Amino acid sequence: MPATKFICPDGSRVDIKKCLQRCIHDQRCMFLPTLRAIARSLDRGIKEPTVTELICGVRETYLKKTMEYAVKPYDQLYAIHGSAVHTINEGFTEGNMFSEERLYDDITSGKFDLYGQIIDLNDKSLGDYKVTSSYKLMRALGYYKVDVITGEIYKTGLRKGQMKTRKEWRTDGVRHLLDWAVQLNYYRMLLEHRGFKVERMEVQAMCRDYSLRIATERNIRKPVYMIHINKISDRWIKLYMNSKAKKLNIALKNKLMPEMCTSKERWKNRKCAEYCVVAESCTFGRLVKKQIKAAA
Ligand code: SF4
Ligand code: SF4
Repeated sequence: MPATKFICPDGSRVDIKKCLQRCIHDQRCMFLPTLRAIARSLDRGIKEPTVTELICGVRETYLKKTMEYAVKPYDQLYAIHGSAVHTINEGFTEGNMFSEERLYDDITSGKFDLYGQIIDLNDKSLGDYKVTSSYKLMRALGYYKVDVITGEIYKTGLRKGQMKTRKEWRTDGVRHLLDWAVQLNYYRMLLEHRGFKVERMEVQAMCRDYSLRIATERNIRKPVYMIHINKISDRWIKLYMNSKAKKLNIALKNKLMPEMCTSKERWKNRKCAEYCVVAESCTFGRLVKKQIKAAA
């Protein structure tokens, strides 16, 4: 079931259809075409779970498919930024290149962004556009800070006699990009099953808060990064996605709430607290929000 309501900037709720006919407030929060684009992005009209839906927690996808929910148009802007990037590139996919084809198998379906000569003219690459935050980029690139001893010693204060340190960036950390890797590897499998060899996989990740100081503080110094995605075995990808698809289908068939999303899928509860649009229909999401309210 797609989202049925918008949450206005003042917190009031309105049926999406009603909003698109007439704003219930004195002034629209956005132009009508932008709101229409947001409404369209919320309902892609695909009944079966897609690759991106299966990558999310089974409970989250189950709730999105069975419950009515409300979204804040402001929060959805990033999703349509992603579509805008696709549209900008669309007119320039000349040569031996395919884009935005939805491919199906017996588990799910996925729409890849670009395949073919996307890096150079002898290329069989699979590419994906992402518009993402500096936080996600820092983690995907494996950036982390370490304390480095400066050689100086504190001469006064509580730390007298201790070595002074300064923070330095390292770029060889664990790359937290499993979701992107699963997504691209699944598209790779779908293409290869149709006879299209994929020689490399790359994400072109644009940083949406690049101009802010917070991005520099996370060592993100470029507006766009090319991130290489390693191959994951077909066997692992199939087992992983098949198990999630099975859990979701059983839950949908029996109308039974699936187990809670995993800690990774919940982003250690950050998603439940702020970003999960179905948190109000989830016992755990309600609990996390209640705890945050009580602590405030
Ligand atoms: S235009 Fe914005 S403020 Fe007006 S009803 Fe729609 S969501 Fe609410
Ligand atoms: S609130 Fe958390 S646990 Fe519940 S569906 Fe959303 S992400 Fe999953």
